[in-house]
This record gives sequence, C-alpha cells and structure tokens, in this order.
Amino acid sequence: MMKTTSLPDVTGRVIRPSDPEYDAARATFYGGIDKHPAAIVRVADAEDVSRVVTFARESGTELAVRSGGHSGAGHSVSEGGIVIDLKDMHALEIDPKAHTAWAEPGLTAAAYTIAADAHDLATGFGDTGSVGIGGITLGGGVGYLVRKHGLTIDDLLAADVVTADGQLLRADAETHPDLFWAIRGGGGNFGVATRFHLRLHDLSTMVGGMLMLPATADVIRSFIALSEEAPEELSTIANVMPAPPMPFLPAEHHGKLVIFGMLCYAGDVEAGERAVAPFRKLATPIVDMVKPGRYPAMYPPDDESYHPIGTSRTMFIDSVDRDVAKTIVEHLNATDAQLRVAQLRVLGGAMARVPVEATAFAHRRSRIMVNCAALYERTDQAAKYEPWVTGFAGALEQGDSGAYVNFLTDEGSERIRAAYPGPTWDRLAAIKRRYDPTNLFRLNQNIPPR
Ligand SMILES: Cc1cc2nc3c(=O)[nH]c(=O)nc-3n(C[C@H](O)[C@H](O)[C@H](O)COP(=O)(O)OP(=O)(O)OC[C@H]3O[C@@H](n4cnc5c(N)ncnc54)[C@H](O)[C@@H]3O)c2cc1C
Repeated sequence: MMKTTSLPDVTGRVIRPSDPEYDAARATFYGGIDKHPAAIVRVADAEDVSRVVTFARESGTELAVRSGGHSGAGHSVSEGGIVIDLKDMHALEIDPKAHTAWAEPGLTAAAYTIAADAHDLATGFGDTGSVGIGGITLGGGVGYLVRKHGLTIDDLLAADVVTADGQLLRADAETHPDLFWAIRGGGGNFGVATRFHLRLHDLSTMVGGMLMLPATADVIRSFIALSEEAPEELSTIANVMPAPPMPFLPAEHHGKLVIFGMLCYAGDVEAGERAVAPFRKLATPIVDMVKPGRYPAMYPPDDESYHPIGTSRTMFIDSVDRDVAKTIVEHLNATDAQLRVAQLRVLGGAMARVPVEATAFAHRRSRIMVNCAALYERTDQAAKYEPWVTGFAGALEQGDSGAYVNFLTDEGSERIRAAYPGPTWDRLAAIKRRYDPTNLFRLNQNIPPR
C-alpha cells in the first residue's frame, strides 16, 4: 500500500484507514465490494483533482475516480491506491434563460433534477435518483427522457476535464473536439470530469410513476408493443420480476412474476393520460401509481442502507414477440435467486436520430435495451447465479452484439469491445493515446491506448 504521508496538500479532505469515517467512505452502492484504498481524497475543486492526478501518475499509484459510487464493476474504489471522490463537488448553476446548467459531478441525478424542476426545467439521467451525474453522463445516460430528448450526452454541451498530465481542459465542439467526442460514451478513460455544461428542457408537467401488472407472456409482449407505438414523450421501463414484499402490496402477490413498470410521459397532462391509458387496460393493475405530477417524483428517495450483491448482463434486442416473452417468463421462473429481473427499455425517438458516429455511444439504432440480473445474499453465491444470468441473456440474443457500458460489470475486455463496436473502438483507442498514453485512468471499462 502506498504511503499516504506523501500525498499532496489539498483544499478538500483526505480520509485514511485510521479515520472513523473510512469504512463508510470506501463503501459503494453495490455490496460485496470490499476494497481498502490507502486514501480517499474528497477533492474540493479541479486544482485538487489535478494535484492528486499528478501524484498518482508520478508515484505509479492506482487511481479510482468516483462520483456517485454506483459502478457495478467495483471501479469506484481501489485496493491499496487512491480514490478521487468528487462527492463534495456538487455545485450547480442554472441559467434558466439560456436553458443550460453548469453542474459538478458529485451531484446525484435526484439533486440536479429537484433543483432544475424549480425552474420548470429538466435534463434526462437514469431511473435512479442516487446515481452520480459523473458516471452516468460519461457512459451515455438512458432514462425517462430518452425517447423525448435522447441520452444525457445528447444534452452535454461541454465539460471541464483534468487529463492524465494534470491539465484542466475545456472540451466542447470547438475546443478539443476529439476529447469531447470520446467523453460522450467513453466513460472515465480520458480524464476526470470536474464540471459538465448541460442543456435543460422545458418540463413543468408529466404523468408518471409505477404500474404493476401480472407478467404473463401476452402482457409482456403487449407492454413492449405499446411502448414502441407510444408518442416519444413517453419512455417506459418494464422490470419483469417477482413482486417484492412491499407493504402496500397484498401478500397474495408477493413473489409472483409482475411487470414492475415505470412510465414517464414528459409533457401535457391530458395527452399523458391518453398515452398511459392503454397500459392500464393490458390487465387489471395490481398497483397503479401513475399520476400527474412533477418530474422529480420519478426519483423517490433511495434507501441508503441498501447495498445489493448481484450479477447482470446488458444487451440489446430488436423485438419482443410472444416467444421472447415466454422465454423471459420461463427463465425468471427457473431460478431461486432472491431477486431476478429482466429489465426492458424501449429506445428510439430522439436518441435514435443522433448519427451513430456523432458520439462514443454507438448503439443508436438498437431498439430495446435489456438487462438480465440476479441479486443474492452473499458473494460466494455468484458461481451459482452467474451461469443463470449468462444463459438467460444467451436465450434472448437476436444478433445485436452490443452492450451498454454503464451496465457492464467486471466482464473482461471482449465485453468492453462490445460496448464500443467497430470504428468507435479504434477512434477511442487513438484518442486515449493522445490524452492518457500511460493508461493512468485504467480502473474503468478500460480502453487501452492504441
Ligand atoms: C441502481 C442503479 C440504477 C441505474 N440506472 C441507470 C439508468 O437508468 N440509466 C443509465 O444510463 N445508467 C444507470 N445505471 C448505471 C450508472 O449509470 C453507472 O453505474 C454509472 O457509472 C454510475 O455513476 P456514478 O457516478 O454513480 O458511479 P461511480 O462508481 O462513481 O463511477 C463509475 C465510473 O465512472 C467513472 N467516473 C465517474 N465519475 C467520473 C468523473 N467525474 N470523471 C471521470 N470519470 C468518472 C469512473 O471510471 C468510475 O469508475 C444505474 C446503476 C445503478 C447502480
């Protein structure tokens, strides 16, 4: 382990193994990740970031970069190295007239969304409020506004990035355009983003929330068909899974397969009610919490003590017919994993209108994003459930070999290549060589320099 006495002075705070808050500070959203960094530096500003980056480069110390700590691959913490933790960098300047914001990466999706909502504005992130805007933005960002406004990166106008040489660069369409292209999907490979300039959209009303339906093959197929036909204002997420024992849910439903559907119509209430009505008719809803409201209602407070252990597989498919829906039901019924899910997100709309080569997120033409996952109690159960997850994903494959980088776990280099198919990989590797020739930023879904 590196000697923390040699760390540079910073304006922020350094948390060492002897500090009482060390264990809480090294914990990540996912449980079962038990790494012990030599120091966690809660940086205060870009200069702190630059000092720590320079120190890590010169000392050869492993560097983890962390915003919201939700990495499924355990990349937000290092064993024996340093963590740059951006949690305390959460400033947000909203310019309502310009419809833009400068946002620091330590903001969560929920914090940003609540602040923007005060101006009747929004930028799309994901489906979970506690996710950091740092990680989700750099990987793409697929959420409740994906069909209406595209990915989070489609609203990224510029970013400030500390590169491996310790320099703070502005990346936008005119300045370092290669870096700007790469950070829109290429993750943390190119430097530490210390600020994002994001576009905001008018959003004062929405109709959204959770709709729980029984998950028969017919209901699953029809749910996806309706999502495909729906106006672009409506984005849906169909989580096909056993019903969790929620207090408001009658006990007879607990453990039965349901669609835990999340619907969000971003726009006028009457049109929104019309758009969600056919979903309510697919079957008698078990729970119907879809209603008019403000957009932050899509991010109810998360339980901070929840640290799931699990494994998952990200993929894209073209369609869900009855056979595919049946395969989903059969696989979900064929394991005893505490929680198992097929999460289906119909894409298209604004996201698909951006040319494939415009950013490092290359899956613009993919129709439906799927995430097959199993959650369990202990890390030693991975060997039991991983084959189930892989088999499930294999059974759903339809020829689209892509993967969404933000949903990759620790799956090896081939799967990272799947996130960056064809020329995207070559271009990223060349840009990596320019900005990080020694691969300092390697604790991520790594793109080695060419
Ligand atoms: C419960 C849950 C729900 C999710 N839902 C969605 C969803 O709906 N849509 C979606 O698109 N994704 C979703 N994700 C995936 C999520 O986008 C990624 O896990 C993302 O990387 C998390 O960002 P973070 O800042 O919280 O994580 P961190 O663990 O802090 O960061 C992940 C990685 O991103 C890089 N990184 C983070 N911040 C910076 C920075 N400022 N500069 C440089 N590199 C950085 C680092 O390589 C780091 O290892 C979800 C994840 C979870 C756990």
